[in-house]
Amino acid sequence: MATVAGVAVEPGHWIGGERVGSSQTFTDVSPIDERPIAEIARGGAQEAQAAVDAARRAFPSWSRTTREERARILHAIADGVEKRIEDLAQVETADNGALIRSHRRGVMPRVAHNFRFFADWLLKLGHEDFDTRGHTNHVSWDPAGVCALITPWNAPLMLATWKIAPALAAGNTVVLKPAEWTPLTASLLAGIAAEAGLPDGVFNVVQGYGAEVGGPLTAHPDVRRISFTGSVPTARAIAAAAAPHLTPLSLELGGKSPLVVFADADLDLAVDLAVEQYDNAGQVCLAATRLLVESSIADEFTERFIEKAGRIKQGDPRDAATDMGPQIHRRHLERVDGFVQRAKDAGARALIGGGPNDELGGLYYRPTLFTGASEGAEILTEEVFGPVLTLQTFDTEEQAIAMANGTRFGLAATLATGDPERARRVTERLVAGTVWVNCFFVRDLQAPFGGSRQSGMGREGGDWSFDFYCDLKNTVTAPWAK
Ligand code: NAD
Repeated sequence: MATVAGVAVEPGHWIGGERVGSSQTFTDVSPIDERPIAEIARGGAQEAQAAVDAARRAFPSWSRTTREERARILHAIADGVEKRIEDLAQVETADNGALIRSHRRGVMPRVAHNFRFFADWLLKLGHEDFDTRGHTNHVSWDPAGVCALITPWNAPLMLATWKIAPALAAGNTVVLKPAEWTPLTASLLAGIAAEAGLPDGVFNVVQGYGAEVGGPLTAHPDVRRISFTGSVPTARAIAAAAAPHLTPLSLELGGKSPLVVFADADLDLAVDLAVEQYDNAGQVCLAATRLLVESSIADEFTERFIEKAGRIKQGDPRDAATDMGPQIHRRHLERVDGFVQRAKDAGARALIGGGPNDELGGLYYRPTLFTGASEGAEILTEEVFGPVLTLQTFDTEEQAIAMANGTRFGLAATLATGDPERARRVTERLVAGTVWVNCFFVRDLQAPFGGSRQSGMGREGGDWSFDFYCDLKNTVTAPWAK
């Protein structure tokens, strides 16, 4: 048992309804001050096997519960989450360094909403029967089996439950492997789910390093679905592991998304949208890290951006007044800084930031904006996943579209324009899973979510989640004899 931010957390695995340890552990470090906060069980092939076995054993009974019963338990889990929002917020902030105020107000309520939304959607799920020459077609969403869910550290419980909730609602059983840098809230969720009456083995958690746990899990022949959120290189390893059994994959990956600001935009709004891209200290997959601004307004935009970004208050994420916390880990900060220093070496100019925050020390990195990067430069094409934006200018709509679409990614795109016709023309031609016009991060769980190109494979959300987590079946019945 560990106590983190005053909250008791069991740092083991959760398999078949029991806390299970491992002979080895790894140290979980808080990004706030780089101090160890817990020793976590370090799972491997054995624990992955045990969890898949437990999930397989639990499947026949869970998959045959009624939709109403599953929805009831999912709502009970949401109740449990809501009762513990403060604990979950405190532990998540200690573990990943994201702002306590976001965890309290936005993220943890959304975790509860993930369960409620998919519970309610399950009850509405259906397709009207249709007729083929007197034969009735009936479409059903059958539970698929054991789902392996693998998640990153930037929004640990929110991203995990966005997969867990529809997978369980669909009647599947689950093995979750949280990121090794943020293992704690998954352990708390296991307790909440058990208290809510989720039967043993329906939800399992295996802690540990990516290749050590994720490798055997994704290669396992009894796993029927793999849903992964993380980086492109890991997605390739997972796709290779899944290939022998052709296990269906849902991949939510990185991005290098654009914010396109046209001269006809509301400039205050455009600047607000641009500065918002530093949220979560830049560790957001959807962040529009490439600011593409029409030349005629670029100077004014830049001036206002620098003024507004200069007011970002960086510091301890437990302080409700802080706007930007630390990077997740020393290794991650060094990776971010590597991109920044290479960009400078390649001739780009940092208009603000350009290095760690020396006053604060630790893992705090200054919000950075680059200009003058040459076409095709690494800083314009690779995901940094830190508080690093680039500014480029364009002169025509055609050029803006080409620049927006000019990476191997296609996760999201944001437009700022005052012209609805232009918005329609441009959005039609953007390659992106989500496009926001004069807004950012407005997300409804019934919308399809995912990425184009190397930003992902497949879509989740609403029906799309059930399509992925289920075996769809069409039953055709001939007319019965009178
Ligand atoms: P990552 O790929 O390093 O790790 C993600 C998860 O995969 C972790 O749990 C890790 O332990 C596991 N893993 C690592 N190697 C594995 C292997 N060989 N087999 C199975 N699992 C393995 O990513 P990260 O650094 O944790 O997260 C950041 C990345 O996630 C960024 O690229 C970001 O854009 C992306 N992301 C995407 C979305 C989205 O919805 N599209 C959301 C958040 C983050």
